[in-house]
Amino acid sequence: MAQVKMKYGIDLGTTNSAICKMENGDPCIRKTDFLKDTLPSCVSFTKKKVVKVGDSAYNDLRQDKSKATKKWSKLNENVFIEFKRTMGLNTPYESSNMDCSFSSEELSSEVLKALKSFISDDTINAAIITIPAKFKADQIAATKRAATLAGIEHCELLQEPIAASMAYGLSSAQKGGMWLVFDFGGGTFDAALLKVEDGIMQVKDTEGDNYLGGKNLDYAVVDEIIVPYIQENYVIDEILSDDMKKQILRDAMKFYAEQAKNQLSFKSQCDITSQLDEFGEDDEGAEVELDMVVTQQQIKEVVTPIFQKAINICKDLLQRNNLQGSDLDSLILVGGPTYSPVLREMLKEQITPNVDTSVDPMTAVAKGAALYASGIDSEVKDEIKAGTIALELSYESSSVETMEFVSIKLLPNECSGTIPSKLFVEFTRNDNGWSSGKLEINEIGDVVECQLMEGKANAFALTAYDEKGSLIPCFPNEVNIMQGIVVGNAVLPYNIGIEVHDRSQNRDAFIPLKGLEKNQPIPAIGVRNGLKTPKQLRPGVTTDNMVIPIYQGESNTEGTSAI
Ligand code: ADP
Ligand code: MG
Repeated sequence: MAQVKMKYGIDLGTTNSAICKMENGDPCIRKTDFLKDTLPSCVSFTKKKVVKVGDSAYNDLRQDKSKATKKWSKLNENVFIEFKRTMGLNTPYESSNMDCSFSSEELSSEVLKALKSFISDDTINAAIITIPAKFKADQIAATKRAATLAGIEHCELLQEPIAASMAYGLSSAQKGGMWLVFDFGGGTFDAALLKVEDGIMQVKDTEGDNYLGGKNLDYAVVDEIIVPYIQENYVIDEILSDDMKKQILRDAMKFYAEQAKNQLSFKSQCDITSQLDEFGEDDEGAEVELDMVVTQQQIKEVVTPIFQKAINICKDLLQRNNLQGSDLDSLILVGGPTYSPVLREMLKEQITPNVDTSVDPMTAVAKGAALYASGIDSEVKDEIKAGTIALELSYESSSVETMEFVSIKLLPNECSGTIPSKLFVEFTRNDNGWSSGKLEINEIGDVVECQLMEGKANAFALTAYDEKGSLIPCFPNEVNIMQGIVVGNAVLPYNIGIEVHDRSQNRDAFIPLKGLEKNQPIPAIGVRNGLKTPKQLRPGVTTDNMVIPIYQGESNTEGTSAI
């Protein structure tokens, strides 16, 4: 088996997902079947038992929601979204068309398979997949299972805010200070405070709201703009007084609201028009149709209070870290709704003028994941082709220096075919701006000093020659070193502790272990002294064992029941 660097980064999002491949040192987003950068994280099962993923599944959802207004009753569900919310739980998603139910990780694996299918020139069995900074152990395990189900045998996880910061950090001149990643997604909001020193980044603290996202904006547009329009033009009092019918109406209108909201990030006004026969009838039998104009000013009034909630969360996060908005060197925008000019203005006024708009908020996470991937070793099982020279390379895959040492040696036992009596190698940087010249190597090894371009993912091609100067295939044949950013140690996203019996109160309570508090850099060691076991544990007696469950808890959970 040989070692190569990973190439793929995947943003497995609640609402949208994306895949990015490292190509010659650059993270390149791969287009979906609809030629878009992102794929809706949506899975649909048809009557013919065909699985659809992405935009075609999302269109099915839209049609189902419109159809439901014709009878004002809900249809059987065969289209699923937002299953990332239930990662690690045993929530079943029942499909009447398939006569069975699916778990969150099975649906997620369909999304991963679809993303893999967009890379037709490669089979992907190793990738970096991003997860929210707050994902717990069970959610992490479920994400890994989804990857395995999708045939990604070697999957490593990276926190979304770190990924976004990598995409940002590489392109930016800003290499240090306090950064705030503001990730407003489709259904969740996550804020992460990062400390960056000499390009080394570390998540310091996180906060968020699992029920705040673009969806809230869409329903606000439905409730405050679209439903009032329908009320003016139709009679829908009965529909609105019935909770189920009202929800069916709101769900159908949400798609129109979303379209308008998204367009109004770039235009001053837009039309909302529905097709003939799209919706059902009002209380008096008139077919409901939409034909209206929405302005940016109208949207502004509707979205402002929702965005304000996210801004308030950031203010609290800053405050508890004794920081002010003015202490931030950069505020990084992530997530579709951050295209909104209304939000960008609010952030500049209330948090910091340093709002960075240089990275695309919809693809930053996937790009950062691919950049990170390029520094992670992965084993390839493919047999090395006949006549190939096997090499061992070792080097730091990210660096804040402008040159980096790569040690290289020949692995004679793993070479296939004959090894020339003299072997030479040459490193060439992908911009052709630097090359090492031919260096003779052997099994003792040597060190090559590689010149790095600043603020970039540097890729070096490796070529091997015999003494006559003929090319000899070698493996690995590339080296990737990222200059300018380094991922610091991850930190604990929760307090880690155990449950102990509190005699004074005669009950069991969760206590965090000293050293394993939230935001401690890992690896970390926890200590708790002065506890007694409920029964005797004699050394060497195998039947004397005690199970100690480990729990993770928020900062305010000390003293509560672990369950
Ligand atoms: P997630 O991280 O949850 O997968 P995304 O970052 O993909 O979510 O964001 C999805 C949300 O972004 C949706 O609510 C979508 O309507 C919204 N969105 C997409 N494009 C725009 C836009 N141009 N303006 C405003 N919102 C947008
Ligand atoms: Mg996201």
